[in-house]
Amino acid sequence: MRIVQEKTLIQISFLPRSFPVNCYLVEEEDGMTLIDTALPYSAKKILRVSERLGKPIKRILLTHAHDDHVGGLDALKQVLPDVPVYISARDARLLTGDRALVEGEPGTPIRGGVPRSLKTKPDELLKDGDRIGSLMAITTPGHTPGSMSFIDTRHNFIIAGDAFQTRAGLAVSGQLRILFPFPAMATWNKRIALESALKIKTYQPSLLAVGHGRMLKQPNKAIEDAISEAKQKLNWNGTEKEMES
Ligand SMILES: [Zn+2]
Repeated sequence: MRIVQEKTLIQISFLPRSFPVNCYLVEEEDGMTLIDTALPYSAKKILRVSERLGKPIKRILLTHAHDDHVGGLDALKQVLPDVPVYISARDARLLTGDRALVEGEPGTPIRGGVPRSLKTKPDELLKDGDRIGSLMAITTPGHTPGSMSFIDTRHNFIIAGDAFQTRAGLAVSGQLRILFPFPAMATWNKRIALESALKIKTYQPSLLAVGHGRMLKQPNKAIEDAISEAKQKLNWNGTEKEMES
């Protein structure tokens, strides 16, 4: 486990050298907001980190419903039964193991592991623009249909889940990095992921924090390069009409 703090954001990284899986604690006045819950065995360690920092976990936000982001959720809820859980309405369906597409979505199959027998039910369904303490939720679909990112409005940090990866080189979700191909392999729709990358870019974040790989400070040039690469690979013509891939 590796812990890295940047101002109000604490990255907890499990298996940082071999198969990095991150979750985040965001410091608020009343306690901590946990973003994602990593793997089943991560729950105890997450609790220990928040104890050591002297602030209790007050809420749990989920960027998306993949196993390596919700793995610790049931174990955490056992210890923290009153802590509310937030996820987008769309990925709340994935949280129940339901991989069916909904009307209007392009027909690319939902990829990646989703939970089969999770007990925890979300308390709040997130919408674009929702405020949760210092964080603002924005919809950034593509990796999954209901993926969300969170902006810490105090420092303009973006916690983007798997909308990008930084391990093995910054990449828009869906763009393969041969040394760490798993996020790309688990991506639902590359074109929609690219649209979300463009959306994230408009916020000009001062730091990009993702599910797999280190946090990146002053990421805008790197984000631009990753977007150019994705545009080229997807023959992106600038319009947002052709959504199927
Ligand atoms: Zn994922």
